[in-house]
Amino acid sequence: MSQYIQSVRGMNDILPGEAEFWELFEETVRSWLKSYGYRPIRLPVVEPTPLFTRAIGEVTDIVEKEMYSFVDSLNGEPLTLRPEGTAGCVRAVIQHNLIAQQPQRLYYMGQMFRHERPQKGRYRQFHQVGVESLGFSGPDIDAEQILMGARLWDDLGLQGIKLQLNTLGQPGERARHRGDLIAYFAAGADALDEDAKRRLHSNPLRILDSKNPAMQDLIAGAPKLIDYLGETSLAHFGGVQQVLRDAGLPYEINPRLVRGLDYYNLTVFEWVTDRLGAQGTVCAGGRYDGLVQQLGGKPAPACGFAMGVERLVALVRDAGGEPAASGIDVYLVHQGEAASRLAPRVAEGLRDRGIDVLFHCGGGGFKSQMKKADASGATFAVIIGDDEAKAGEVTLKYLRGGGRQGMQDGTQKRVGVDKIADEILMDWEEA
Ligand code: ATP
Ligand code: MG
Repeated sequence: MSQYIQSVRGMNDILPGEAEFWELFEETVRSWLKSYGYRPIRLPVVEPTPLFTRAIGEVTDIVEKEMYSFVDSLNGEPLTLRPEGTAGCVRAVIQHNLIAQQPQRLYYMGQMFRHERPQKGRYRQFHQVGVESLGFSGPDIDAEQILMGARLWDDLGLQGIKLQLNTLGQPGERARHRGDLIAYFAAGADALDEDAKRRLHSNPLRILDSKNPAMQDLIAGAPKLIDYLGETSLAHFGGVQQVLRDAGLPYEINPRLVRGLDYYNLTVFEWVTDRLGAQGTVCAGGRYDGLVQQLGGKPAPACGFAMGVERLVALVRDAGGEPAASGIDVYLVHQGEAASRLAPRVAEGLRDRGIDVLFHCGGGGFKSQMKKADASGATFAVIIGDDEAKAGEVTLKYLRGGGRQGMQDGTQKRVGVDKIADEILMDWEEA
């Protein structure tokens, strides 16, 4: 039995047909980022493992069970395929001293790796577009990053992606809230279920998420983080919301939107759709003012977000978006010795003028070549036989849709070799 090697589970090939949608997506994303002044940064896919344990935190799903970590067999260095991009980006910013002179707006796109259970919208190799601003502390940049999202969904022709917003305050404010929360639930311990009792000291915030009907009254009366926020935190949150209101961008405040680690603070947001089933979050972000210092840099404020490309491309396809210019302009048919010597020069001449040419390779008769020309989806066939070659001409055949007014599909005419590009371009201009 012959056996071929398959791709790793959860790591997908993106084939022609699908890949055009990815390219369209990437082009849209690049020009969108440029319109906000964000600059590209390209980062390694492999980083030292301690970067992620320090940046993401030991007690997170990612670090506990999702990382592809290995030891470099040549020098024993612990390495990890990046599970996300922020850690590497902040490392690079520190390593190259990028924010010593001025703040930075940066972006990157590429593969991320997490050992999760593969399912629709969740893969082991997936792609993110990451956007990070470093060195800005005010709510204006948080708001900018949120407004950016709204514009991108629009640029991509997507509807129904909703904004959820929350504030985490500062670590000290969270600690006081947490203390009171534990005391509050401890005082009502009789009403707690087993799960809640277990979480009381390790992760009391999770109790707020419980669906147990018997606990809902207790949960409703629990202390709320927003009541622990000082003036500065409240002003920041208010500042973000002011910009969103001024822009007419609707949002929902979701107090359950949280991040586990201490260097996350203030703004958190997610963009969510109900069109992807369970994996509905297409973009998540917020402020992480503590991370630069956590990774050994001089303290600097920062905020950013990451989008899941697989999920967004799926939405673009569902919305019926079509990759622009997926077709080819000319299929070049040629047969005979003189014709086949002329043909490559004709093809290059057309490309010189910006016309896309699919050059027939592999020989065969006119009939079979014309079949391929038809199947290629090209607008025109340019046909060269020895007849044409001798006369210094080619035959231009209108295969579909692109011809001048009055020209039926299937019409053909002879054109001088040096006139063929003009002829095709003139048709475009008149169409
Ligand atoms: P979840 O709770 O769904 O696991 P997360 O908090 O792990 O999400 P982030 O680390 O915030 O996700 O990543 C940002 C975005 O990247 C997500 O909102 C999602 O769109 C996308 N994403 C994350 N993990 C995967 C994955 N395994 N496959 C495909 N896309 C993913
Ligand atoms: Mg996850």
